[in-house]
Formats: sequence, C-alpha cells, structure tokens
Amino acid sequence: MAANNGLVLVTGGGGFIGGHLVDFYRKRGLPVRSVDIKPLDEWFQVFDDVDNVVADLTFPDSCRKACRGVSEVYNLAADMGGIGFIGAHKAECMLSVLISTHMLVEARDAGVERFFYSSSACVYAEDKQKDPWAAPLKEQDAYPAMAEDGYGWEKLFTERMCRHFTEDYGLLTRVARFHNVYGPNGHWEGGREKAPAAIIRKVLETTTRGTGEIEIWGDGTQTRSFMHIDDCLQGVDRIMHADIGEPVNLGSDELVTINDLVSIVEDIAGVKLERRYKLDAPKGVNGRNSDNTLIRSYLDWVPSITLRDGMKPTYRWIEEEFRARYGGRRA
Ligand code: NAD
Repeated sequence: MAANNGLVLVTGGGGFIGGHLVDFYRKRGLPVRSVDIKPLDEWFQVFDDVDNVVADLTFPDSCRKACRGVSEVYNLAADMGGIGFIGAHKAECMLSVLISTHMLVEARDAGVERFFYSSSACVYAEDKQKDPWAAPLKEQDAYPAMAEDGYGWEKLFTERMCRHFTEDYGLLTRVARFHNVYGPNGHWEGGREKAPAAIIRKVLETTTRGTGEIEIWGDGTQTRSFMHIDDCLQGVDRIMHADIGEPVNLGSDELVTINDLVSIVEDIAGVKLERRYKLDAPKGVNGRNSDNTLIRSYLDWVPSITLRDGMKPTYRWIEEEFRARYGGRRA
C-alpha cells in the first residue's frame, strides 16, 4: 500500500468517468476523496463511504485542501462536453488549465506519489483526421501540433506540464488520451452529452413522439471509435501503475461510422427510423480512431468491450432516466 494510507483523490468525481472511478477504487477497499464543483445532488454517483467535497478547483486553496494526505491523484475535473459544447465554449474549456495547473502544484507540494491526467484524442492534429478512413492515430501524430481549438490545446498544454513536473520536480505523472468514452451515469441531455448518449436519447424521443424520424449531425459517414467505461477504468488503473512515462492512447480501435452507431441503437431499441441529416450541425473531424500499438506494447492489454455489447446497458440506463424524467410526456 502506498504512503499516506493510500488515499485516492478523484477530481471531477461528480462527473461521468470520475464517478465510476471513485466506485472502482472504493470497491477495492481504498479510501477515496471525490471533489467536484457541482452541488452534491447533481453528481451522477454519490457514495456514503467516500469523502465527498464540493469545491471549485480553479482556486489554489481548494486544490491544496483536496491534496492533503493524498497518495494518488486522478485529475479528471474539466469543463467539457460533446462537439457542440466544446466548439461553442472554447475559452471555458481552456480555463480548465487553472484546475490542471493548481492541481499539479499542490500535488507536488503535498508529496503526492502519482498523478494521473485525463487527456483526450482532441490533442491530435486535424489534418490527420480529414478522411473518414484515415490511419488510426499514433501518439506521435499530436505533433507538429494543431489540436482541436480551445479544448484540445488545453489538453496538450497540460500534457506537457505533466511531463515537466516529472522532469523538474520528480512528481510521477501519467497521461492517457481518452477516445470517446460512453456508459451509464453520464450526460445524456442538456448539451454536454456525447454521440452515443445523444443518439440513444434521440431514439427514445422519436419513439415517444411517434415521428419515426431521427436527426443526425453531419452526413453520418464520419467515423469514430467508442470505449466502454469499464475498459476506461481498467486502462486508467493499469496506466497509472505501469512504467509509462509518455502520453498513451486509451481507446477502442473498433471503428464505426455514426450511421453504424445509429443502426446499433435502432437494433437495441427494436425500431427502424427515417434519418434526417443536419449538414450544418457541428460534427467534428471526419475520421478518428485509436492506434493501440503503444498501449499494447506497455501493458499487453487493450480495450476489448464491443460497441454493441457496451451500448446495451447504456441504452437501458438512459431509458430509465428518460422515463423517470418525462414519464409518458414528450421530451
Ligand atoms: P464530466 O463533465 O462528466 O466530468 C467532469 C467533471 O468535472 C464535472 O462533474 C464537472 O462538474 C467537474 N468540474 C468542472 N470544473 C470544475 C472545477 N472548477 N472544480 C471542480 N470540478 C470541476 O466529463 P467526463 O466525461 O467524466 O470527463 C472526465 C475527464 O475525461 C475530463 O478531463 C475530460 O476532458 C476527459 N475526457 C473525456 C472523454 C469522454 O469521452 N467522456 C474523452 C476525452 C477526455
């Protein structure tokens, strides 16, 4: 067990991935502190056996308190959302650099043993993602840098801060570039949701209204890979505790088009819908997949849950939330 009683700190613990990560470590018997800016009743998951703290981590003082007595930091807190959100809130996304900066400084000063940072596939240069069937992204494709405007640049900058905190101060840092994570207990409406949850919600809305039509952002031929939350948790834990001193992709390499994703949701829901393509909606890059050569070489492990398998429980969870919120009414 690590020093400081092995206390684990998850920032952004009221969010989607953070909430699952808190659960992952508490189930392993570790003491966990979970910090988020949202009021507790808005957290996706709250556990009584966890030290739940509501605080704004853009302030150094909150980060200092959060890091007190901590062995391992999992820094997931960030102002982010799907492509519609990050495209319209670039400054807000970049302000997450305050969280990253103060968390690194306070983790260093508190003698934290390991620091994990959740970076993103949005660090990759756009010109490598122009073709839907472009080669999967290797870690070195982040340079020469031309990250996603706003959100992606903040992630790339913080990756480099992590590296320099290791080089200059000896703080052991680990960086994973997440590729589209999905699962239950996350955003499914309101603008911060990602494609899998948004499509499930739209299918539920359409079936409730009986219109038989679904709106898709873009022409549906854009490609992505989607990683189930359970693979993400496994990957985070493995990366944190392995000897990986460079940013590494953490994503599925099962490439699908958005049309394929819609078909999977239709199959789960048992419906067939008319597709209406909104060509002027934000749709992100044309093609993005994760090259998993590096993570496989380090860990002899890669995410393996298929999209079809992972989407079934995700659908069921969103369906329950949807029914609880709207009952029989129109969404
Ligand atoms: P999320 O929005 O569900 O969780 C982020 C949490 O951070 C939120 O609960 C939010 O309230 C909290 N937060 C924001 N500002 C804060 C502040 N000032 N102080 C304290 N808490 C604050 O998002 P998520 O999907 O769980 O993402 C977690 C991390 O993984 C983020 O860093 C994100 O950039 C990264 N990531 C996620 C994906 C994905 O597909 N979900 C992909 C790439 C990277």
